[in-house]
Amino acid sequence: MSLDVAAIREQFPILKREIDGNPLIYLDNAATTQKPQCVIDALVEYYSHYNSNVHRGAHRLADEATRKFENARDIIKDFINAPKREEVIWTSGTTEGINMIANGLSKLLTSSDEVIVTGMEHHANIVTWQQACKAAGATLRTVPVTDKGELDLDAYVSLLNENTKLVAFPHVSNSLGTVNPVKWLTEQAKQFDAWVFIDGAQGIAHGNVDVQDIGCDFYAFSGHKIYGPMGIGALWGKEELLAEWPVWQTGGEMISVVTLQDATWNVLPYRLEAGTPNVGDAIAMGEAIRWFSSFDYAEVAAHEKALMARATELAKEFDGLRMIGEAEDKVGAFSFVLDQGHPADIGFLLDRQGIAIRTGDHCAQPLMARFGVPGTARMSFSIYTTIEEVEQFFKALKKVYMMLA
Ligand code: PMP
Repeated sequence: MSLDVAAIREQFPILKREIDGNPLIYLDNAATTQKPQCVIDALVEYYSHYNSNVHRGAHRLADEATRKFENARDIIKDFINAPKREEVIWTSGTTEGINMIANGLSKLLTSSDEVIVTGMEHHANIVTWQQACKAAGATLRTVPVTDKGELDLDAYVSLLNENTKLVAFPHVSNSLGTVNPVKWLTEQAKQFDAWVFIDGAQGIAHGNVDVQDIGCDFYAFSGHKIYGPMGIGALWGKEELLAEWPVWQTGGEMISVVTLQDATWNVLPYRLEAGTPNVGDAIAMGEAIRWFSSFDYAEVAAHEKALMARATELAKEFDGLRMIGEAEDKVGAFSFVLDQGHPADIGFLLDRQGIAIRTGDHCAQPLMARFGVPGTARMSFSIYTTIEEVEQFFKALKKVYMMLA
């Protein structure tokens, strides 16, 4: 069986749009995915029928909102195979999840400690740990990236030592599409009892994330990268760590007892969820994940593999195109530069033909520097991308190349 991509596309109203008379070809899914009708409906239903604050209300709407909000937490727990629902913390997105843990870490680090990140991080997964290390006088070490765009695994192993407190890496690189061997990376770090934080922003939408199997301590992701709304995400962490992790935001909901002089903290997950949560978006993110979970992940993976294979084949036939990132295991994102024309011009001229891609440094300036480019043009796929769209893309790119000559 293969995915019925035509039927999937029917569920996305935005895919019917035209841009200057051309059908929209949306190849910017690593930046954000589009939303199926059921997710849009879930949001509209919340605001039309049971908008209410959760947990404290003594009325019907509050009960309903609380039930659906907490049910969405269960959907996420099951999706990533987390052992306990209390370990799933709502955040505003991956960035907030990383900040929550990095902020707490800055209070736990000492000056002899080391933190390891990689050379292929999104800025959210570098700057946060940099700041944590600076605050504590600890050392930040980085794993180099090979010419193919993979992590240098030997270098990684040689960086690990008894002082390594935490290792952070992306599940999938947002700029190169490289899929990292997360389980193996985690096993190596665990030999030194280091905590492992995985930036799952790009890994989550490809299915089959099992945090127990990976063995990591933290996994963060955003709703908008997996067919859900912006402004909502989840952080999963092991209960024994989250229950003791220094709180980073204080306020309502996260407290237990408050006097004018002091306060005690609530139990998980609430101790890390200060203030009124983003109820409607959490429910809609739950709906997005329920929707995505209805697909066979092997079929999703086969579809994504076919898209990447076709793109690679056409890129190799394209004189003047340099692929950035040729990892053996690659999904979603496909970056390149042309020997004439700046990536920004490529993006502009493709847009004139109805094709949406992303250009620039992809919030990964150190990685761009590693490849000696100021930025790349990146197309990125999702479950609704077709092989025809990939072929159409390369035809349009040929025209762009001629215009830039
Ligand atoms: N990490 C990676 C790998 C990403 O691709 C992104 C989003 N582009 C982020 C972190 C940050 O995610 P958000 O902006 O949704 O918090």
